[in-house]
Amino acid sequence: MQREKIVETKICKHCSASFDITDKDLEFYQKISPIFNWEKFNIPAPTLCPDCRQQRRFSFRNERKLYKRKCDATWENIISIYSPDKPYKIYNQDFWWSDKWDPMDYGIEFDFNKSFFEQFNNLFKEVPKRDVTKWTALVNCHYVIGIWDC
Ligand SMILES: [Zn+2]
Repeated sequence: MQREKIVETKICKHCSASFDITDKDLEFYQKISPIFNWEKFNIPAPTLCPDCRQQRRFSFRNERKLYKRKCDATWENIISIYSPDKPYKIYNQDFWWSDKWDPMDYGIEFDFNKSFFEQFNNLFKEVPKRDVTKWTALVNCHYVIGIWDC
């Protein structure tokens, strides 16, 4: 097995820890860099250390706190990982998985004159989300997250 070669050592912009960028990291970023209209948009090497990147990814998740709110489709009371003051559309599990709404209704063309994050934020607010992350075969399991066959 070939070892990774350190290409660069950087200082984290957030916590000032030093971290290495390897040839395998750069290979990976090159591989996942998107192509739009036959133009490749290279993803740059990270500016945050692995720990800070992981913290940032986890800040996007909530698996520890549940809220009572209304389903934005059926208006029934639900338990959700999203608090009622969040600007998102939240559907209960059964409705979200049903054919009663069409995710394709939310499709929009990417506008290269606007920032990606502005467009992503607008889309993220518009597209309905599930109340909590649960999988199949759950019976009377309203207060669980990330579980299945219970
Ligand atoms: Zn850091």
